[in-house]
Amino acid sequence: MAVIGGGPGGTCAALALVRMAKERGQAIEVVLFEPKDFGAHYNQCAGVLSPPIQGVLRRELDLSLPPGLLQRKIAGYVLYGEHEILDMPVLEDGEATHAVRRVQFDRFLLDAAEKAGVQVERSRVYELEFGPQRVILYSDGGSWGADVVVGAFGLDRTVGEALADRTGYRLPPSLETLVTKIHPGGLEHVPALLQDRIHAFLPRLPAIEFGALIPKGNHITIIIAGRRVSVPDMQAFLDLPQVRRLLPQDRAIEHHFKGAFPVGPARRPYGDRYVTIGDAAGLVRPFKGKGITSAALTGIRAARTILDLGISEEAFRHYYAACADITRDLWYGRAIRHLARLTSKRLSLDPILQQAHRDPTLRRALYLCVSAQDTYRNIVHGSFRPRLLAGCLGSLAGWLGSRAVSPRSRRR
Ligand SMILES: Cc1cc2nc3c(=O)[nH]c(=O)nc-3n(C[C@H](O)[C@H](O)[C@H](O)COP(=O)(O)OP(=O)(O)OC[C@H]3O[C@@H](n4cnc5c(N)ncnc54)[C@H](O)[C@@H]3O)c2cc1C
Repeated sequence: MAVIGGGPGGTCAALALVRMAKERGQAIEVVLFEPKDFGAHYNQCAGVLSPPIQGVLRRELDLSLPPGLLQRKIAGYVLYGEHEILDMPVLEDGEATHAVRRVQFDRFLLDAAEKAGVQVERSRVYELEFGPQRVILYSDGGSWGADVVVGAFGLDRTVGEALADRTGYRLPPSLETLVTKIHPGGLEHVPALLQDRIHAFLPRLPAIEFGALIPKGNHITIIIAGRRVSVPDMQAFLDLPQVRRLLPQDRAIEHHFKGAFPVGPARRPYGDRYVTIGDAAGLVRPFKGKGITSAALTGIRAARTILDLGISEEAFRHYYAACADITRDLWYGRAIRHLARLTSKRLSLDPILQQAHRDPTLRRALYLCVSAQDTYRNIVHGSFRPRLLAGCLGSLAGWLGSRAVSPRSRRR
């Protein structure tokens, strides 16, 4: 069996395959292709581990993250409008959210896979051929035969297009991201950096759909996302007064890293002898992250399907159905994303945040959206009552009214 990609999706799928096969007394060979040397090369990420990832790793793969890997426990989230701020301390009702260095997390999972018996090939797959009995994979290190291919290559165009040519698969639609970091001190851990909170922004800047500052061990990770984002967009974000206030004055920007994340499902994400997982399948909570958790979960579900049901298109239909918790949420996430964009770009988030200060149901709904601690579906069904909608519409109408009045009053 071949797994293309050694991010959280690929490593969890490979680990689950060898672990479950061993439990059943089945002999299988799993080869995982990963060209990056984690340490010198990175997968783009803000490194926020949202629940229930640690529980999933422990329960399904018998893996506990070493305490040194968890750089900071997240104590809360702050959501910014133009002038209003909503501080949302973490609700302590389950697994905590932690900030990690993604490169260390990837290294840990890949080492665990290798120790468990997965053969790790340090090369990039660039072509695939599907025959009636085998799939042939061509990589920088040679060619390989496999019964089935698990596509865990994220949004990589090379292998995405190779798979598309052979199967009709299409990479998911995506948003671009730009990441940079700032070290406010030296290399030592900085206590209470950004009050241990993730600061989230839906700025009016046209190119940026959202931005965030994330406190890590000794540095702050800064991320912006949009259809197309560039270094000048990052500069404009850093120059926003509310962002400037959170960062040291003499900030030195280090490198910028370009990435992307999916905002919808891939086309033909599975077929005879292949299945895609994680970002490659577009199986992530849209708009606000949790991509690591989804990649791990979908990887484990794909592995279970292969061992329980086989490697046919029909078998993988069951895998996709088992991911209904994610697929059912895609449309709700898309709707919330459009609503957030409309409010922050055309109207204003300020009246909504003012309303949230008064209304605990709205406050909780915003907290669950930003912290990713529930599905959008549950948030919509659990919170969106006529009273809440009326309150939001009333606040927005009040804000629109005040804008209609102010130019005239200025002229007088
Ligand atoms: C800027 C940014 C910030 C994010 N922040 C967070 C966050 O804080 N928390 C969170 O949960 N999620 C976050 N995400 C999302 C998260 O990173 C992804 O959803 C998650 O990594 C998906 O895992 P994956 O295994 O599917 O793919 P990836 O993590 O992308 O892994 C794919 C792997 O495949 C390898 N690969 C690619 N092409 C080939 C090839 N041809 N041959 C062999 N190997 C190949 C790559 O080297 C890579 O290691 C963020 C994403 C971005 C872009």
